[in-house]
Amino acid sequence: MKVDWLIVGAGFTGSVLAERIASQRGEKVLIVEQRDHIAGNAYDYYDEQGVLVHQYGPHIFHTSMKPVWDYLAQFTEWRSYYHRVLAVVDGKQVPVPFNLNSLYALFPPRYADKLSLQLIEKYGFNVKVPILKIRENALGDLKFLADYIYENVFHNYTLKQWHLKPEELAPSVTARVPIYISRDDRYFQDAYQGLPQQGYTALFRRILNHPNIKLLLNTAYQEVVEEIQYKKMIFTGPIDAFFEHQHGELPYRSLHFKFLHTEQEYKQSVGTVNYPNEYDYTRTTEYKHLTGQRVYGSTYIEEYPQPYKRGENIPYYPIPKEEYRALYKKYEAEAEKIKGRVLFAGRLADYQYYNMDQAVARALSLFEKINC
Ligand code: FAD
Ligand code: UDP
Repeated sequence: MKVDWLIVGAGFTGSVLAERIASQRGEKVLIVEQRDHIAGNAYDYYDEQGVLVHQYGPHIFHTSMKPVWDYLAQFTEWRSYYHRVLAVVDGKQVPVPFNLNSLYALFPPRYADKLSLQLIEKYGFNVKVPILKIRENALGDLKFLADYIYENVFHNYTLKQWHLKPEELAPSVTARVPIYISRDDRYFQDAYQGLPQQGYTALFRRILNHPNIKLLLNTAYQEVVEEIQYKKMIFTGPIDAFFEHQHGELPYRSLHFKFLHTEQEYKQSVGTVNYPNEYDYTRTTEYKHLTGQRVYGSTYIEEYPQPYKRGENIPYYPIPKEEYRALYKKYEAEAEKIKGRVLFAGRLADYQYYNMDQAVARALSLFEKINC
């Protein structure tokens, strides 16, 4: 087979690049995907009970990048959705990111008044402060509060999720869920938030629906690369695998998802409940809250973090840590040597903890470079 571009991976990164190249440059693209479906980790499907579920864990789209939102809006309508998360702390379900409502849910009103006034005085209102930042220089009551939140919300959850303590990871990891000095219970504050009205897989079907795009599923690119004539490749899988781990394996974190079904209309009051201190799983997510689907019964998942073992499970999370970044840089240098023939992009190829909007933005900006 003869094509202009060979793209490895049909997730957001690979699919957006395929669409841009096919529609804007009129060039022929072959996407090779090792799974039996498109959409990468955003893949969704209807389960046996007819509930729309996300196979690889809950995916909520949120972005402050209007061009990313507008780009995807060509291929989907959006269901407006604001994600809400409660964490079980001291036997109570309180909002996360931890905010002033969480404070009042956990402490007697007069003490909560005092703590919230001190927080506002020190940092201001409607301000987000990472837990590691608050802990750096807190004194008195604020020190008590910072330690309380650290111990009850972050420490054990992070150990479960990463097998590392919060301070052993890049500070950006726990800063994703900062202390929010506000009464806003939403998990994200981005201007654009929602889910594709007909689901992610339907969105991807439309992205890939172009006569210049061909798709080969159930195929690892190594199996076919010799037989395909292409001018350039874009690789969106793990960069260390591409280079046959010549500098050693990049570490990833994996997950096991346990799907459960109930005859109840709803199992929990919000999309996700976090369990920092109980159970082996980190969180449960009930899909009907996300999708707004009206159907009898409900499906939810428990997420069990796992060590990643090559060939046994899926590398879901690059691990943001300085020493692993240094290892990644060695692979980046290898990539630089062959950039005339192969380009690398995506959560696994860039070894970056991208959200979906960042993966799309990365693909769009790489396309700009290709096209200039
Ligand atoms: P992927 O989606 O991983 O796609 C890469 C594709 O390449 C895969 O389909 C893989 O099978 C294929 N591939 C790899 N190697 C080969 C090979 N050798 N041959 C052929 N094919 C290959 N983001 C959000 O914005 N909001 C969320 O709520 C959210 N929740 C998440 C929850 C979980 C549990 C996880 C793991 C991620 C979540 N994300 C979320 C992040 C989101 O999944 C990623 O940003 C996005 O999927 C990245 O897209 P990608 O195309 O770079 O990678
Ligand atoms: N986190 C935590 N407790 C929580 C929520 C998050 O300790 O209740 C930390 C944990 O280290 C987690 C990180 O913040 O991995 C980022 O959380 P996020 O919900 O963004 O993770 P993701 O959805 O990407 O798995």
